[in-house]
Amino acid sequence: MKMAAETKVGEAEWEVKIPEKKLKDRLFFENLKAMVIDTQLCSRCLTCVSICPGGLLVNEEDVVDFPDFEDKCLDCGACVRVCPRYDYKPKSGLGDYIEFTAGQSKRFKGQDGAMGTEFIFSAMDMGLIDRGIFVDRDEQWRTSVFHVRGKEQLEKLPLGGTKYVFADILPELKKAVTFTKKGVGVVGTPCMVSGVRKLQEEFPIFKEKVKLVVGLFCTENYHYAEVSKYLIGKGVDFSKLIKTDIIKGKFVATMTDKEVKFKVAKLDDILPSGCSRCTDFTAVESDVSVGSVGSAAGFSTTVVRTETGKEVWDYIKKMGNAEVGEGKVEELDFLINHKKEREKNIQL
Ligand SMILES: Cc1cc2nc3c(=O)[nH]c(=O)nc-3n(C[C@H](O)[C@H](O)[C@H](O)COP(=O)(O)OP(=O)(O)OC[C@H]3O[C@@H](n4cnc5c(N)ncnc54)[C@H](O)[C@@H]3O)c2cc1C
Ligand code: SF4
Ligand code: SF4
Ligand code: SF4
Repeated sequence: MKMAAETKVGEAEWEVKIPEKKLKDRLFFENLKAMVIDTQLCSRCLTCVSICPGGLLVNEEDVVDFPDFEDKCLDCGACVRVCPRYDYKPKSGLGDYIEFTAGQSKRFKGQDGAMGTEFIFSAMDMGLIDRGIFVDRDEQWRTSVFHVRGKEQLEKLPLGGTKYVFADILPELKKAVTFTKKGVGVVGTPCMVSGVRKLQEEFPIFKEKVKLVVGLFCTENYHYAEVSKYLIGKGVDFSKLIKTDIIKGKFVATMTDKEVKFKVAKLDDILPSGCSRCTDFTAVESDVSVGSVGSAAGFSTTVVRTETGKEVWDYIKKMGNAEVGEGKVEELDFLINHKKEREKNIQL
């Protein structure tokens, strides 16, 4: 059956406008595979996996796959509709913003100034959201994703801090939008932020329920099997690891008894192909971006972009929840340009 562009199929909030196929006589999964996965563009944001009613998954190699697609793909088109890298229009630069500043939470400890955490909890205190999606980890630093509904959960779980390992955030966000009463806040890398915006364009339930999107500055992330093997080879003992960081071109693993440090360029061989084709450093589509570069140690650079982001930032200041610091725009130039150069790796 030939699909017409913009035809709607599905039930109520999960219906999707069917796009034109690029490979006309193939299933939509085969289109996604040919245009995004086989071309090495896939960022592993998992936007497609989060809404596929068939069986899209992440396989043992940590790659998006659909083993039984011939039988089980419903050919609904949702995956290509929401994939930020199908018809990829790379975004880069600093993006639009209302305020460029820095913050240090007075309530929470985090990777830098814990503003990722502070934005979610202040939005909760304001009554804007009733849950936030955070990345948790086990003792071997494998990631899992957690729905946080109260501050007491932070005391029990290592939810703040950066894990340089992919995390399955968007499938959890899909669950969260169906359970939340007030709304959900999510923190994620720029590729995930773009995925959330695509979901919001496509599905009213995401538009209505995802109230706050906090983006993290990001140059790269890694597959667990590869980065853990590398780190163990460098002498990192995961049972003693308390923090991972990338500072001035060096990967730093801080353990309870020692520190392992090496040039992050040493990880180039395991840089995922989707990251090597990613140009967005600052998460230009977020409500507020937070990052390490651009402010003093112990602060998070805070780029407030939308009215929602500003409402929460104003609340944080009004309640005295954070120390306000100085954000230095020019300190982002190097990494913004470094990522823009990755455009040359994109062949559409
Ligand atoms: C993969 C990755 C690469 C980064 N690269 C850079 C960089 O090159 N330059 C720079 O300035 N900043 C980078 N950051 C951001 C930086 O490390 C801090 O996350 C940011 O400054 C916020 O710190 P915070 O103290 O405000 O956040 P916190 O309050 O500590 O909160 C951290 C948030 O990050 C989330 N998180 C942790 N790990 C992951 C993950 N793997 N995927 C998605 N979310 C996660 C947690 O759920 C939490 O919400 C990167 C972050 C990640 C996750
Ligand atoms: S079932 Fe729909 S979303 Fe899943 S792979 Fe097939 S076309 Fe894509
Ligand atoms: S880029 Fe994201 S949405 Fe597109 S195929 Fe990869 S994981 Fe799925
Ligand atoms: S560099 Fe960061 S934002 Fe870009 S694809 Fe990789 S994890 Fe996603």
